[in-house]
Amino acid sequence: MIVGGGILGTMHAVMARRHGFSVVHLEREPAGRGASVRNFGLVWVSGRRSGAELALALRARQLWAEVADFAPGTGFRPAGSLTIATCEAELAVMREAAELEDAKQREFEVLSPDDVRAVNPALRGEFLGGLYCRADAIVEPRVTLPALRAALAGSPAPSYEWLPRLEAVEAAAGGVRDQHGTWHRGDLVVLCTGANLTGLAGPHLTETGALANAPGSGGRGLRRVRLQMLQTRPFAGRLTTSVADGDSLRYYPAFEVPSLASLPPQAPVAAASRAQLLLVQRLDGSLTIGDTHSYDEPFAFDVDEDPYDHLLARASALLGTGLPRVQRRWAGVYSEVTGTGRIYHRSAVAPGVVLVTGPGGRGMTCSPAIAEETFSTPEGLTTEGTDLP
Ligand SMILES: Cc1cc2nc3c(=O)[nH]c(=O)nc-3n(C[C@H](O)[C@H](O)[C@H](O)COP(=O)(O)OP(=O)(O)OC[C@H]3O[C@@H](n4cnc5c(N)ncnc54)[C@H](O)[C@@H]3O)c2cc1C
Repeated sequence: MIVGGGILGTMHAVMARRHGFSVVHLEREPAGRGASVRNFGLVWVSGRRSGAELALALRARQLWAEVADFAPGTGFRPAGSLTIATCEAELAVMREAAELEDAKQREFEVLSPDDVRAVNPALRGEFLGGLYCRADAIVEPRVTLPALRAALAGSPAPSYEWLPRLEAVEAAAGGVRDQHGTWHRGDLVVLCTGANLTGLAGPHLTETGALANAPGSGGRGLRRVRLQMLQTRPFAGRLTTSVADGDSLRYYPAFEVPSLASLPPQAPVAAASRAQLLLVQRLDGSLTIGDTHSYDEPFAFDVDEDPYDHLLARASALLGTGLPRVQRRWAGVYSEVTGTGRIYHRSAVAPGVVLVTGPGGRGMTCSPAIAEETFSTPEGLTTEGTDLP
């Protein structure tokens, strides 16, 4: 019994099936509308923290390739990424990161401007070089969830049942109750309710002090982050990789090397909105461009143009040409665990009921490996059937 039709819930459905479970999958909306359809679709190994986080991302990258064989409609492509340096200080960080022990696992290589253009000829702007990460990949967030559901529904037993427009309002050992009062039974219940820190998961998170703003948490816990994104009309050229700018070095833990301290200050508008440029070409040729980060709630309900101006100018400078008209703008919210050494949140809410959330900006990347871990950890597999009301 899986609650939540985002990427975490859907990957749990995929992995549950691998373990021989029949799956009933509840989603309160007609289809996923949360972070999983609002993201870049970056399967991003390059920036992950050394150790357990990198290991999880590498396992996930491997699983994504397998899942893409099972569900080709995800648009998975092992395109790699290029992080572009426009000043010597950024290049120094890249060189240092490429010397670290785990750089080989990330398939890092520092490239000259000509080599960057040879890998991705669409990058025709002025820059000093780039960091190629061959391990990175791309999926299509707007179609990945339905593609996975179609593959699940179309494959032989055990069965898969998708139940949209049903909100789980109560979870207990043995099943969940929807808004109409109907109990849906399952030996194991997995709650993947996303950045919704109230509702079904709320009382559990509050009682266990799992929220970052809980008294005594010392900031260690779950918090929410809001990001702004946009998508252009189709771009005439073809980008062979995803692209990041040097500001991304400031946000990803893989680049916490001594020379990071020598980066010049960010442009004020980028610093104010904690922006970095990430750029992915969609299969239809359009460009997904982002992002910003805000942590202080209540979040704005509207989007702000200043960071968009900055990100569009950066993208245009790296591509060395004007961009197509912006077609769509949106914001998305994810929840993330805070505190060193934590990658995501999993806890037993009741016997046989597991809550999995908080993967932060790595949720699309790590989802298959997180789901795999749920079915290989003792609390994940505590299945207890009881008599429901
Ligand atoms: C703008 C943006 C860009 C990002 N870019 C990337 C990226 O490129 N790569 C990457 O790895 N990660 C990225 N992330 C992070 C990633 O998108 C998230 O970590 C991930 O999507 C979280 O998945 P989820 O299934 O937990 O949440 P969601 O996608 O939010 O899904 C949760 C679902 O649960 C449903 N639900 C909640 N409560 C109930 C209930 N009681 N009953 C029934 N249904 C319920 C909701 O309706 C929702 O559909 C990005 C996030 C954002 C916002």
